[in-house]
Amino acid sequence: MSRADERLIELHSDDLAKYLEDDGRHCPICESVDLEWGSLEFEAGIVNQNVSCINCKVHWYDIYHLTDVTEMMVTSKEAGHVEQA
Ligand SMILES: [Zn+2]
Repeated sequence: MSRADERLIELHSDDLAKYLEDDGRHCPICESVDLEWGSLEFEAGIVNQNVSCINCKVHWYDIYHLTDVTEMMVTSKEAGHVEQA
C-alpha cells in the first residue's frame, strides 16, 4: 500500500471530525473538492474505498460500516417460509 516515495501525513482529530461531518466531500488536508474515488473493497461488515485528492496528492481510505438493511423482499412464494434456526 505504501511506496518508497510516500510518507505518512498526520491528520489532526479536528480535521478528521470535520471530514466525517462533511460526509467526506472535501479533502481533509487541503479542503479541495477535487477528489477521486477508487473501487470498493469488501470485508465482513466493512467496505474500504481508496480516495485521492487531485489537488494535494494525498490519498487515504474511507471506511464504511454496515449499519442497516432495507425492507426484506422475496420473489418466490416458497422462499419466505424457510424454518428459522
Ligand atoms: Zn487535498
